[in-house]
Amino acid sequence: MNEDILYMKQALAEARLAAERGEVPVGAVVVCRGRIIARTHNLTETLTDVTAHAEMQAITAAAGTLGGKYLNECTLYVTVEPCPMCAGALGWAQLGRLVYGADDPKRGYHVYAPGVLHPKTTVTRGVLADEAGTLMTEFFRKRR
Ligand SMILES: [Zn+2]
Repeated sequence: MNEDILYMKQALAEARLAAERGEVPVGAVVVCRGRIIARTHNLTETLTDVTAHAEMQAITAAAGTLGGKYLNECTLYVTVEPCPMCAGALGWAQLGRLVYGADDPKRGYHVYAPGVLHPKTTVTRGVLADEAGTLMTEFFRKRR
């Protein structure tokens, strides 16, 4: 199986955990040298913290595991396109590669802050995008 799909499935599993806990279903994993070093999901409700997005948790957890703040040798898989805040944080972390699923036309970084990632970060989008998008749509439909 394609590696990106394999890891994105892990991120989707995190997103489902988030939904079960009443959190907006966004999940992330960080992979470094063929190993998952962080698995996180959105925790804004649990922590009553608007900055507790999956990616922010992932950066902190991955840096903790690596014992260094830069993620230049890591790939972050996230189910939905990062917002400008998270993309900015990924820029500070000098992330090596970003892989995301569904586009977020309303809150995603690439419309509002396309230059905010680190210049060396490579980006792959649209991996299992339908699955990630469906999770979001279902979550918000149930909340209404
Ligand atoms: Zn974010």
